[in-house]
Amino acid sequence: MPRSLAYGAFWASLGWRDGFDEKALLQRYDKASIMVGVLPIGRPDPGAGAMAAFFWSLKPADAEQVKAAGLDAWKARVVSVWPQCEAFTSQIDSFEQLSLARYGHHTMTLPAGRRLAVIGDAAHSTSPQLGQGANMALLDAAALSHALARTGDIDEALETYARTRRWHVRVFQALSLSLTPFYQSDSAVLPFLRDRLVAALAKVPPGPQILAAMVAGTVINPFRRIGLAELQWPAAGSSATDRMPLPAGRRATAADSPD
Ligand SMILES: Cc1cc2nc3c(=O)[nH]c(=O)nc-3n(C[C@H](O)[C@H](O)[C@H](O)COP(=O)(O)OP(=O)(O)OC[C@H]3O[C@@H](n4cnc5c(N)ncnc54)[C@H](O)[C@@H]3O)c2cc1C
Repeated sequence: MPRSLAYGAFWASLGWRDGFDEKALLQRYDKASIMVGVLPIGRPDPGAGAMAAFFWSLKPADAEQVKAAGLDAWKARVVSVWPQCEAFTSQIDSFEQLSLARYGHHTMTLPAGRRLAVIGDAAHSTSPQLGQGANMALLDAAALSHALARTGDIDEALETYARTRRWHVRVFQALSLSLTPFYQSDSAVLPFLRDRLVAALAKVPPGPQILAAMVAGTVINPFRRIGLAELQWPAAGSSATDRMPLPAGRRATAADSPD
């Protein structure tokens, strides 16, 4: 069973508004108990307008109390933390527009059974603070697909899938569990360290590289054990457009891996 985390969030997908960074997640904090976030999420279809995920950190246990106090009181609280977010709160007419996200942390010991593989959040869920859930699910799928392509023996493929993902999943789950309280908790000390220590470390090499690797999921090479490689993943922090696609028809192998 997942361990429920104290904090979750109200989320809404809203129309994009100027004045925010179209290429970055922006968040405003007060310690780790208050947080407002604006995340560009693109367009639902090519002809549609750009959209933002707008979110407000809160304990699911407090959600009914917040609703009882009324929408205007909630909006005023959000705008008091980040006045420009009035551009988003003004698009919300009812609590019905907000999804209450509850976060849970769990890791399956063995994400496979008899002729059954479990991938993604079902195998390992956590809070989204490191923003790696989608990557982890895709890596699981890649590992499973690669293992199945290399043998006709299902049991062997499932064993290979579970083994090749084990360490990357374990490291990420441990990082996420230990770092989440710096961003969502009632602690005053952890956010103080975050703002002082991490802000300073983020400017001194190898601090930027370590932090970039944490949020890119590359603290340990996610591809080598699977037997795949994405060329130039260590350069992921420089620019997404710098990444070189593999030549057509060629599948990356561990030999391509820089690790
Ligand atoms: C609020 C929030 C913010 C997040 N932000 C980020 C982020 O910025 N970056 C990031 O990488 N990750 C983020 N994540 C995590 C990310 O969304 C998940 O890790 C990822 O979606 C997991 O993919 P999945 O395919 O395993 O599960 P899901 O995306 O949950 O897909 C499971 C699917 O199965 C369907 N389903 C469930 N039960 C059944 C059933 N019985 N029959 C048929 N279908 C069923 C569900 O409807 C769903 O469509 C966030 C998560 C949340 C909740």
